Amino acid sequence: MQGTMLYGPRDIRFEDRPDPKITKPTDAILRLSATCVCGSDLWPYRGIAKVSEPTPMGHEYCGIVEEVGKEVRNIKPGQFVVGSFATSDNTCVICRDGYQSSCVQREFMSTAQAPILRVPLADGTLVPTRDHPPKELIPSLLATSDVLGTGWFAADAANVKPGTTAVVVGDGAVGLLAVLSAKQMGAERIIAMSRHESRQKLAREFGATDIVSERGEEGVARIKELTKGIGADSVLECVGTQESMMQAIHSTRPGGFVSYVGVPHGVELDGPQLFFAEIHLHGGPAPVRRYLPELIDLVLNEKINPGKVFDLTLPLDQVAEGYRAMDERRAIKTLLRTDGRK
Ligand SMILES: [Zn+2]
Repeated sequence: MQGTMLYGPRDIRFEDRPDPKITKPTDAILRLSATCVCGSDLWPYRGIAKVSEPTPMGHEYCGIVEEVGKEVRNIKPGQFVVGSFATSDNTCVICRDGYQSSCVQREFMSTAQAPILRVPLADGTLVPTRDHPPKELIPSLLATSDVLGTGWFAADAANVKPGTTAVVVGDGAVGLLAVLSAKQMGAERIIAMSRHESRQKLAREFGATDIVSERGEEGVARIKELTKGIGADSVLECVGTQESMMQAIHSTRPGGFVSYVGVPHGVELDGPQLFFAEIHLHGGPAPVRRYLPELIDLVLNEKINPGKVFDLTLPLDQVAEGYRAMDERRAIKTLLRTDGRK
């Protein structure tokens, strides 16, 4: 088969790779229905996270099970499945507490921008649907695999509840789906921080009631104005920079909650500022597996349409253009077709 490799900054190649095989008895092999490019893939793409050797890319996936290892009990060939970017046994004490993305057996997926994928710990990682889903729902099901699951965790970890005020920092695909998630969890007011018109529009479609385009201390001042001077109940940090993290902490009322789901790059917290902010901080790699059954149901029942964040669709062999478009902010998120059609 052919798969996606990153050779260095802005050097994506789609090239011959060995066909994935069952290597452990708990593995499954999937033929992917679709895959995509993640905002977090842009960190190594831009050279901010260094790669020392050609590295396979991709960690968002859904598709049909082709083969399973001898010890796989619940996942069967022919099933349509969705899995998380982090594998999990779903049985260890951390998994049972709902933090499958830190499972004691976790591996991070990294070869999913390809037509065929090996998934370790298949029974714990994959969630099957009862029937094969209709084609038009594939983008939204793919979104549950990471970008929606991460936005959902942002809202859950920030304690979004009916009637609360939520602020979302970041208008990438995760931020936009954090807006959708906050809406589903009943937030009364959802303030999206965004400077881009097309993204503001999608944020409003997903449930944002207010848009704040200022950033940094000016952004914080706007949030204070909108919240009677005290700050928001819940702030969802979906970027991972020093500026976005401080913007989140300073926009939160004492006793409120900040979640952080963007992979941090260069973030350092100041002790006294943190002390006097008197907030709850909760974040990390989203335990998507915890939410998958519920999110898949919401998609299959057409209660939500997270697939709308894909504003560019390309055949898999044009993956390099998919990265370029996101890097240059011409696209929010690129879906990669695996059906061979152009
Ligand atoms: Zn586990």
